[in-house]
Amino acid sequence: MTPDSNSAADPIIRMQGVNKWYGEFQVLTDIDLSVRTGERIVICGPSGSGKSTLIRCINRLETVQKGQITVDGIELTAGGKNVDAVRAEVGMVFQQFNLFPHLTILQNCTLAPMRSRGMSRAEAEEVAMKYLTRVRIPEQAHKYPSQLSGGQQQRVAIARALCMAPRIMLFDEPTSALDPEMVKEVLDTMIGLAEDGMTMLCVTHEMGFARSVADRVIFMAEGRIVEQGPPAEFFGNPKHEKTRQFLGQIL
Ligand code: ADP
Ligand code: MG
Repeated sequence: MTPDSNSAADPIIRMQGVNKWYGEFQVLTDIDLSVRTGERIVICGPSGSGKSTLIRCINRLETVQKGQITVDGIELTAGGKNVDAVRAEVGMVFQQFNLFPHLTILQNCTLAPMRSRGMSRAEAEEVAMKYLTRVRIPEQAHKYPSQLSGGQQQRVAIARALCMAPRIMLFDEPTSALDPEMVKEVLDTMIGLAEDGMTMLCVTHEMGFARSVADRVIFMAEGRIVEQGPPAEFFGNPKHEKTRQFLGQIL
């Protein structure tokens, strides 16, 4: 296993000796991962290798049976009330947008800030319009999700996450469900976030994005981190046979 090449003294995310099982099936094995503030990480690997499970552990959508996870000083494995604290710090964007279909775009964006940040409606709407403007769809604010294209819906999902002022953003194959012509608008939004210094972990097979944006690319197979490194090294000189096979299939 490649040693963790980025074990900064005070990482914003630290996973140590993480192991997780679904019943008898071990989905994550001996995961050690440290992420520093502002770092941009791309995670790739074959389907079923545990990528989604790994990032879902970071906002406690999944629990682990063994090992430690600390996010911005919050110890997740300690359980209980830490879950709310960490959800406030970590935004997540899914493959299937997951917008609330019965709420307008604006309401999708204001719901969580009003409920869990205690914002007034006026304040939440102001914040929401700021981020909808940033993802370049303020004019869609009063429409419903079904009236938007997939690319627009995914940009709303990103804006909605940003309204909670997260310190970390997790992306789980955010462009995989999109028609090809909409991939770029979502990647451009993500590039903008990266340029602003957001700490990001992105599960994606968009290797162009990985090359130009990632500080580090992590390759997973069968529940393990098999190889990781800066994109030039990762793509230019992949060391592990499984990495080479994978890159051979997708590039
Ligand atoms: P990836 O995102 O890399 O495709 P996942 O993390 O989604 O991989 O899944 C890893 C493995 O765990 C797969 O074999 C999948 O079938 C299994 N798995 C995922 N979620 C569950 C679950 N809730 N219960 C049982 N097995 C699961
Ligand atoms: Mg997945």
